[in-house]
Order: sequence, then C-alpha cells, then structure tokens
Amino acid sequence: MNYARFLTAVSAARRPSPIRILTELQQRSPPSLISLAGGAPNPNTFPFLSASIKVSGGEVLVLDEPLMKRALQYSGSYGIPELLSWMKDLQKSLHNPPPASYSPERGQMEMCVTTGSQEGLCKIFEMLVSSGDNVLLDAPTYSGTLAALQPLGCNLINVASDHHGMIPADLGKILGRWDPADAQKPGSSVPRVLYTIPNGGNPTGASMTYERKQEVYELARKYDFLIIEDDPYYFLQFQKPWAPTFLSMDVDGRVLRMDSFSKILSSGLRIGFVTGPKPLVDRVVLHIQASTMHTSTFTQLMVSQLLHNWGPGETNSSISRTAFSPVCFVDVAEWHPPMAGMFLWIKLKGIKDTQQLIMKKALEKEVLLVPGGVFNINSSDPCPYVRAAFSLSTPQQIDEVQHTLTNIFIRSGSGECILLQ
Ligand code: PLP
Ligand code: PMP
Repeated sequence: MNYARFLTAVSAARRPSPIRILTELQQRSPPSLISLAGGAPNPNTFPFLSASIKVSGGEVLVLDEPLMKRALQYSGSYGIPELLSWMKDLQKSLHNPPPASYSPERGQMEMCVTTGSQEGLCKIFEMLVSSGDNVLLDAPTYSGTLAALQPLGCNLINVASDHHGMIPADLGKILGRWDPADAQKPGSSVPRVLYTIPNGGNPTGASMTYERKQEVYELARKYDFLIIEDDPYYFLQFQKPWAPTFLSMDVDGRVLRMDSFSKILSSGLRIGFVTGPKPLVDRVVLHIQASTMHTSTFTQLMVSQLLHNWGPGETNSSISRTAFSPVCFVDVAEWHPPMAGMFLWIKLKGIKDTQQLIMKKALEKEVLLVPGGVFNINSSDPCPYVRAAFSLSTPQQIDEVQHTLTNIFIRSGSGECILLQ
C-alpha cells in the first residue's frame, strides 16, 4: 500500500508537535523521571481532589488523589497506555485482523482514542479528501458525515443500497466508469475513499451482510481505495453471531475502522477509537496533536478503570444488554425491522416529502421525528421517509407516537394516505 497517495496536502504537511512527543515520552517513563519539559501545569493548584463513581451492579470506581492528579493532567495524543492496550486486545479478540495487515510492508495496525467517533470521522475525511475528489458512500447517510464531508468540496457518489446495506453490483457498475490501472496514476479521478455504516445504519437501520462486505472489499482491492468503516452500532447488534467486519478481512491494510463508546457507555463523555494502518492513524494523531491534543484524561481513566474491572469476557454481555427490541409502527407505513442500532427508517405511504408533516403537523402535536431529507446528499430533494429513534422512549410513548402519526393521515380508498390539512 502506498499510503502517501491517499493524503491531502494539508495532512501531508502535518509535522509532529515537539512538546507532544515529550508528553508521549513522559507517559512511558518511570515516575522517578524529573521532567522540566512538557509545560504541564501544577495539578496541586487544581481544585478537584478525588472522585468516587458508582457503577451499575454496585461497583465503585475510585480516583484517589494521585490518580486524580493524573486524570486532570495532559496525556499522550494516542490515548492513555492502559486504555489503548485494552482496546488493542479487544480489537484482536473481536476482529482478529489478518496477520498480513500487521506486516511492515502493509503498514502495522495502529489505534488511537478520539473524542467520539465524530472526531475520528472528521479528521479522517480531512486527511483523505481534497476538493474535487470522488467519494463513494451509500446515502441516505448520517448527517454528521455529510456535515464533515460536504464542505471539503468533494463529489459524493451515491451507491445504491437496500436493507442489507450497500449493493456491491451497483458499486461495481459505478466503478466500471474507470480503468483500475489508472488508480495509482497521479491526478487520477478513481475514487480513493468509500464510506459506509455497516451495522444498524443511521438513518436506515440497515446492516450489511458478510457476503456484501467481501464483494465490496474485493472491489476495493481491484480499484485500490480505502474503506472507512463507521460502526458505532456494532455493539447494538440484536442477533449473534455478529457479522464479521471489514477490519476482520483486511489483508491489505486498507480499512479505517471507527468505534464509539457513545451508544454503550456514554455519549456525553465523548470517547471513541480509530483502528487502521499505522501510517494513516499516525496522521490522524498529528491532527489531534494540533487540535484537541487528546481526549479528556479524566474520561479515559474512568472508562479504562471500568473496562479493566469488567474484563474482556464480560464486555460483550454487559454491552449487549443495551440492545433494544424493534417496535412496530402504523399500518400507513413501510419499514424493514433493523438488525442493529437505534433507528427505524419509515416510508410514509403516499407522502412525497415528510419535511412539512414532521416539522409542522407532528411537532404541533408534540411528536418529534427526523424528516428523511436531511440524510440525503441533496437535503432539499423530496423524501417520503422519516427516521424514528426507538432507543429512548417507553413502549407507551411509542404507542402515542403511532396514534398521533395515524391521526395526521386520512386513508384514501386506494389504501394510500393523504395529509390532513
Ligand atoms: N457515526 C454514526 C453513523 C453515528 O450515527 C454517530 C452518532 O449518531 C456518530 C458517528 C457519532 O458518534 P460519536 O458520539 O462517537 O461521535
Ligand atoms: N495556547 C497557548 C499559548 C498555550 O500555551 C496552550 C497550552 N500550553 C494552549 C493554547 C492549549 O491549551 P489547552 O490545554 O486549553 O488546549
């Protein structure tokens, strides 16, 4: 893999921050090291002394005074070592990436902690996408992805998808416009990046089958593009065994995988992690060095303590208890029950565009859903879908929503619905 050819000029120009290098060094040194480097403030002047955090199941996490001093201090930009090593073990046990992707010529696997996967996403796009580039994705897609990608001035190419995710045959057809031999040529317009949400997609709830992932991976090899696997709903899969990931089949080192703790530990703590080839993850870390410096040390220590207490065997079961049962919606709608995640993608029969229905009629009745148009590449295109998140509401509340939505319609003779004026 020639990773240099994937980098934008901005990313290629990033240089390590000298002070950050010293912080990494200090983090790995014995406590006896006397450091006059780093520019770390004196934590004895900080007002927070210690913390004790109750965890469900009766456990208590204690950050005593020395640990609290560490929690309040700067730390390395990849993440704190104990959390990183726990996550590296987790990735190996869950995805067991092929040994080839660890070999030096294919770029050793690397990981870093991010302030939520949104940070990882935004920085990865900035690293890989320049103005005018062709980028492949399956829309409708997560609006946060569009928010990060669209300002880069790239050309978003929509690959057709259904409730099993991206359709490889359509991807193959799109790629057929190019000659794979051109992919490596400077200035080539062959797409270098494909983005997808493989499980419980936001907003569609779609999950990609293993076979489709294999076909997409083969196309990635043929046309030499990278795959950005944004998988925050991986731990919210309803059925076992969980589908093998792109990371698990990455013999070349062309997958950048983003995981998130947002849906399983806390969304407000802002913590996730990126896994991928070292030359690329290192570039993301250079960007972190120049922006947030690192994810909150306090957050990382708190999460690390919890995960070390749980142990790897317990993690999956503890995590999967947050999975929700899909709910049924009104008979004026069509949807596919999702296999993972938090979203139902509902097509309202006979409605051309749901914007007005949701933002006016439903809101007046104190019901809020997301009109589907916001997940389209062109958000002003009419869209008959709405996204319903079923993660937060009680069954009674969901029932109420169904009634309210049904009351906004009158059924016409054909079985289609029209909006009540
Ligand atoms: N990617 C997708 C597909 C999401 O649905 C979300 C959250 O809604 C994110 C990324 C952002 O996650 P985080 O809270 O980890 O930044
Ligand atoms: N600006 C200056 C001039 C600084 O000295 C520092 C910290 N050394 C920063 C910004 C970054 O500060 P923060 O830890 O709040 O990101």
